[in-house]
Amino acid sequence: MKTRQKIRKGLIVSSFFLFPAIFYYFSPVLIIQASSEGIVNGSFIMFLLMFISSLTLGRAYCGWACPGAGCQEVIFMARDMKVTKGNYIKWLIWIPWIASIALVAFRAGGYHKIDFLYQTTYGLSIGNINALISYFIVLIILIVLPAFIFGRRSFCHHLCWMAPFMILGRRFSHYLPWASLHLKSNHGVCKHCHTCTENCPMSLPVEDMVNQSYMENAECILCGTCVDRCKQGAIIFKYKKI
Ligand code: SF4
Ligand code: SF4
Repeated sequence: MKTRQKIRKGLIVSSFFLFPAIFYYFSPVLIIQASSEGIVNGSFIMFLLMFISSLTLGRAYCGWACPGAGCQEVIFMARDMKVTKGNYIKWLIWIPWIASIALVAFRAGGYHKIDFLYQTTYGLSIGNINALISYFIVLIILIVLPAFIFGRRSFCHHLCWMAPFMILGRRFSHYLPWASLHLKSNHGVCKHCHTCTENCPMSLPVEDMVNQSYMENAECILCGTCVDRCKQGAIIFKYKKI
């Protein structure tokens, strides 16, 4: 495994170990509760930062920092099945969820306070037994079980309420004047060995993308696995205007 991938795996696994302490900052429930009180909470700010980061880094957060990614990529060792369908499901969750947040915030008369540490205990998520139970429910039902039942990073494909912020940010970035991180391919050197497609943690048809010279895909998390696995150097990272 190349050093870059060792670093990436180290980052996402470390992030996963921190998850019990920080999961309130990714909570889809607390943002609704806080918004109903007119409060901008920690998860509101984190989701906003994810959107902003995607304007120049695409979904690199998902590949390099997400706690749920660390858990799911460890599960690859026990259950390594491709996921090729159902990406639309997360939008069926995200759209009503965003509408609910907007509605409760509207009913509260808008936002009038920022509280990044909302509902945390000195900034930590697990301060009591209820928080611990919530953590294990989120972890097992939403992340671990789908990875075992449906395959590689099923949570990212089907359930993640954070991915749409970055998918939208990535789309939006195409119309902005500044550079962004993306993949570039050289199909002329591709030997059609399928290594990139076999190893993509998001189960993308990477070889086809290379041969079509079009590497943009809403589900690409810019993890660089294909870049580091391709012995021909047919895929590289580029940081420039798409
Ligand atoms: S790993 Fe490289 S050579 Fe093999 S199919 Fe992918 S792009 Fe082509
Ligand atoms: S296409 Fe490459 S960079 Fe994108 S998710 Fe797949 S392996 Fe990672």
